[in-house]
Amino acid sequence: MKRVLVVLLALSLCILPGCTAKEAYSENTFYAMNTFMTVRLSTVSENGDSISEARIAEIHRTCEGIIREVEAQVSVTDADSDTVRFNDSDGGIEDCGEHFLSLLERSVFLSRLTDRAFAPTLRPLSALWDFGGEGYVPTDDEIDALLCHTDPLAVYVNGNAALKTDPELQLDFGAVAKGYAAQLLILYLESTECRGGLVSLGGNVGLFGDKADSTAYKVGLTDPRNKDAVLGYLSLTDGFVSVSGDYERYFEADGIRYHHILDPKRGSPAKSGLISTAVIAKDGALADALSTALFVMGAEDAIAFYESGEADFEAILITEDKEVILTEGIAELFALSAETYTVISSEEGMND
Ligand code: AMP
Ligand code: MG
Repeated sequence: MKRVLVVLLALSLCILPGCTAKEAYSENTFYAMNTFMTVRLSTVSENGDSISEARIAEIHRTCEGIIREVEAQVSVTDADSDTVRFNDSDGGIEDCGEHFLSLLERSVFLSRLTDRAFAPTLRPLSALWDFGGEGYVPTDDEIDALLCHTDPLAVYVNGNAALKTDPELQLDFGAVAKGYAAQLLILYLESTECRGGLVSLGGNVGLFGDKADSTAYKVGLTDPRNKDAVLGYLSLTDGFVSVSGDYERYFEADGIRYHHILDPKRGSPAKSGLISTAVIAKDGALADALSTALFVMGAEDAIAFYESGEADFEAILITEDKEVILTEGIAELFALSAETYTVISSEEGMND
């Protein structure tokens, strides 16, 4: 238990199940899509019967199988994935898998919705900055040479083909795939006899069903400036939470922190005044994509986007001044635990 909690903490979100003696859980942790993933299931069915160990093991295997299927199609490193086949092609590819196509269509839509704060086309720029390696600060010319090949509207789906009008265009679903996968798992788990449980996929949590004691789950958000501490807890019974932050993957050069969330309009790490964002939504892919997009937008634009009602979500925005901005629908469900931060409402955030 301790190991998993520590691992989850390192991944931006942790969960305090608050389980009673009556409720037994079965947990499976595995590594996929470049992160640790945990599935925690109640071993009791909706009508209170206990579920056999063999059946629980089967459900865990199915969950892992779903993740492996998504990963095989959308991985940005696996040479056989649709993403790599697409990235290596000049005009696109045929016979794409359903997850790849669905992520592509959703991503193009989300890119438009967020006025390109979210863009699934930044692969060449992320590679140039070398966030996965030692880190490299590119020149403006190097950035500009790649930035002109990142238009999300230069890619489209036709039947089961994914096509591009720019041969240089490359995809990366890193900001949306885990939230999408979390939702697939929850949809499957809801179809089983399990009373309830959760999935936690590297900064993306999905909850389903009921708990025996009817209490909410406590989802802990990592303090962006102290990874071993919890900033505060969200009380939730269902839905999805995704977190993005400048502390998740970064390197430092000349005292400057260069983090992995890029501003798609500039091709360099977003400098929006936010250091972490959490999005709560009923849709896993939306929560994941928006946590990244709001980070890029910054507090003012993120609140204006929330107030426009164009997407159904709640958010927690953490500023570099250590203010925690809560949107209206989530304010009463969040309890701050880190004393160095101050909670303010989204209206106050707007006036700042
Ligand atoms: P997340 O942790 O969900 O915020 O996703 C961050 C990852 O998505 C990065 O490691 C990049 O692979 C990719 N990425 C970076 N910036 C963006 C962006 N503005 N829109 C979409 N994907 C991005
Ligand atoms: Mg994301």
